[in-house]
Amino acid sequence: MDPSNAVIADALEELGDLYELDGAIVHRVVAYRTAAKAVREASVSVAALAYASRATELPGIGKTLQDKILTLAQTGTIPSAERLRAKFPAGLVAITRLPGLGPKRARLLHSELGIDSPQALREAALAQRLRTVRGLGAKFEESVLAALDEMDSRPAGASAQRILLPRAIEISEALVTGLLELGGAGTHVELAGSARRQADSVKDIDLVATTTRPTALAKSLAKLQEIESVSSAGKAGAKARTHSGVGVDLRIAKPAQLGNLLQHFTGSGAHNAALREAAVRRGLHVSEYGVLNDATGISHAYVSEAEVYARLGLAYIEPELRENRGELEAAASAGGLPRLIELGDIRGDLHCHTIASDGHNTIDEMALAARERGYEYLAITDHSASHGFGNDVSPEQLRRQIELVHEANERIAGIELLAGSEVNILPDGSLDYEDELLGQLDWVIASVHTSFGMDEQAMTKRMIAAIEHPLVDAIGHPTGRLIGRRAPYAIDLEAVFAAAARTGTMLEINGNPDRRDLSDVHARAAHQAGVRILIDSDAHRTGTLANMRWGVATARRAWLGADALANALPWSELKQLRMRSA
Ligand SMILES: [Zn+2]
Ligand SMILES: [Zn+2]
Repeated sequence: MDPSNAVIADALEELGDLYELDGAIVHRVVAYRTAAKAVREASVSVAALAYASRATELPGIGKTLQDKILTLAQTGTIPSAERLRAKFPAGLVAITRLPGLGPKRARLLHSELGIDSPQALREAALAQRLRTVRGLGAKFEESVLAALDEMDSRPAGASAQRILLPRAIEISEALVTGLLELGGAGTHVELAGSARRQADSVKDIDLVATTTRPTALAKSLAKLQEIESVSSAGKAGAKARTHSGVGVDLRIAKPAQLGNLLQHFTGSGAHNAALREAAVRRGLHVSEYGVLNDATGISHAYVSEAEVYARLGLAYIEPELRENRGELEAAASAGGLPRLIELGDIRGDLHCHTIASDGHNTIDEMALAARERGYEYLAITDHSASHGFGNDVSPEQLRRQIELVHEANERIAGIELLAGSEVNILPDGSLDYEDELLGQLDWVIASVHTSFGMDEQAMTKRMIAAIEHPLVDAIGHPTGRLIGRRAPYAIDLEAVFAAAARTGTMLEINGNPDRRDLSDVHARAAHQAGVRILIDSDAHRTGTLANMRWGVATARRAWLGADALANALPWSELKQLRMRSA
């Protein structure tokens, strides 16, 4: 049998790690990692592609890598990996993957202390032997132990298996389209589960279908090119796995039950548990098949979810709200559920980058793409002077950039361009540019990009200093989290929200699908504290202006309507708000 995409990706990643330990040039190491990512995310079998000499169609895979993949498929191993494995103990590779270590330090620990495994590393850290190595100290020992604990608490492979929402939506849409094609007339397929609820990340893809030929539809799943294997298929549905390693659960019901099935498999588990409990108090039992009346013994199935909720005395609840965070109580009261924000309510984007910093498009290109999306305004907010990735905008460059934006604004009709900046909040809470320069900008967004490890008190003070700065309009990605990769920095959000509400400084929901920061829970709390929320794409190229969609999804999960969101307002009104708060 051909190796799965996950097996190939792991092999390429290991090879990258081994080359890095071996001191290979960075670029070669990065090439293996990029290739591993492309393989892992490929929607079709990469082994099959390699056999057909077509693996080179994937991004980052050239002829050499295709040959390696072919060798792996044919022999079960890659010779260069074998050679390097003989040189470096397997445990050393695991050590390089710990946050804060990397290959240089792993090699150093190996050569100086003979450490060759995570266990050996733990023992050495506990015995305070790491600090005997030049350049390493007690603080390093502490962070090593924390990283090892974190690694142990993570079930094997668990974090790798969750995928971010955009990827889940992309795979789901391909599966839905494929099933509809194979199912033919009378087939109905819908997305359910956490992807339908627009959650940050998704473990499995849940699909719900109705058809007159259920067994045939379940079996047809195996024919889709995205599917690696099907573990069971019958008239009730099928369980499968995609080449990209995602579980797929297809449930099939009679058309008359679609509402019940969709409601049940959309979840969340907590929402459904609370729903069942509330129903029992009315003498009703809710299941995926229907609503059973205890008194009469008669079960009713419903075509639509709205009917299911209505039977339980509830208004229809949008999938994004189904988390058991008060939605059932609100749905039972008149006018209790908000009308949620929609993408079409967004009038402008106030955070994006151009080639002036680390973006990929010009001011004009970004402006035209934003106009194409129907926006009334766009703020160009390149990174400030100390951004530190080699794409800094010096004060002189910013002065020039302001002119360029204003010139583009004159030239380009149909959209208002605002000269802005995404200014770094320095560790002491001060900003990267002088007030005199900030005062010339139409729009200032301030963000933390450095020193994430500060203690809570210092970080909170730093953030509040920026919030209180009279020239700061909004705070970008306020908690610094990266979904599944980096937790929010230590910060007292209650104090931050109070400061933002007091000063009128807006807090952002960053729409980058890796961030979605503020999160749904935090955005809701901020709104309840009286903070005005802003949704931005943080686009670094024209295409990612579309990331607004994921920010809107988070805002919906935060129960926010258009009235809560600053950029659902025309720029003239938004400007008024700023002036009032200043
Ligand atoms: Zn940023
Ligand atoms: Zn940014």
